[in-house]
Amino acid sequence: MKKAFLLIASWLMMVSVSDAQIAARVPANAQKLIDAYPDMQLTYSDNAIVFPDGTRIVYDDGKEKDFVTKLDNSDIEDMFSMTYDTSVDEPAYLNDCGRSRCEALFKKMYGNCAAEVQKNLVKIEWFGQQLPITKVNGVSEKLKAVYEELKQKPELKKYLLQASSFYWRQVRGANRLSAHSYGIAFDINVSNSNYWLWSNKGKSETDQIKYANRIPMEIVKVFEKHGFIWGGRWYHYDTMHFEYRPEFL
Ligand SMILES: [Zn+2]
Repeated sequence: MKKAFLLIASWLMMVSVSDAQIAARVPANAQKLIDAYPDMQLTYSDNAIVFPDGTRIVYDDGKEKDFVTKLDNSDIEDMFSMTYDTSVDEPAYLNDCGRSRCEALFKKMYGNCAAEVQKNLVKIEWFGQQLPITKVNGVSEKLKAVYEELKQKPELKKYLLQASSFYWRQVRGANRLSAHSYGIAFDINVSNSNYWLWSNKGKSETDQIKYANRIPMEIVKVFEKHGFIWGGRWYHYDTMHFEYRPEFL
């Protein structure tokens, strides 16, 4: 009898906990974002990601979007509509996880204009170069860690020389800011790289295209370990490109 009572009591407790959880429900992907950027001290309330100064960025604007609109006008929810898939050799059709960026969120974290982003840039050593990268969210420290690991492997050096990082600009042929504008992106040597538009000239964003890559996966894995996604995992591949997006890793 006592056992039955305890069972019922614990069942009632479980029900009331799950009701409370529903009432304060944080979408799983909002929680991923909050956990990925601890320095930002983000919270979630009423369909918004909230910064400590009270700035609110809408989580889900409720709009249905086609593939191109998701890139051009992404809210936070749209960013998570694709999955960063490390298990495949070639990205699936239109899987460009990370190419969707909610501009309001990135401008709030890294700077609203070139001058604001520049205030947060520090230079890091990279095979004889001094490359500017943001210190926000510890990105420069993470890139230093990538460098420390990669420099132990001299056979990889030819892929890594003549890198580039910060420049405030639109994405080639599109009306959206490149991740390089925020000081979070990093391009390794262009001479061993493949970019979807170079080998698929004249193709649109929704056409079928051929994949190509010459970057060793050993390099990719080091970047990913430190929170950087790789443009070679995009259907619209950009194999020299890495950017700090720990929310997908
Ligand atoms: Zn790039």
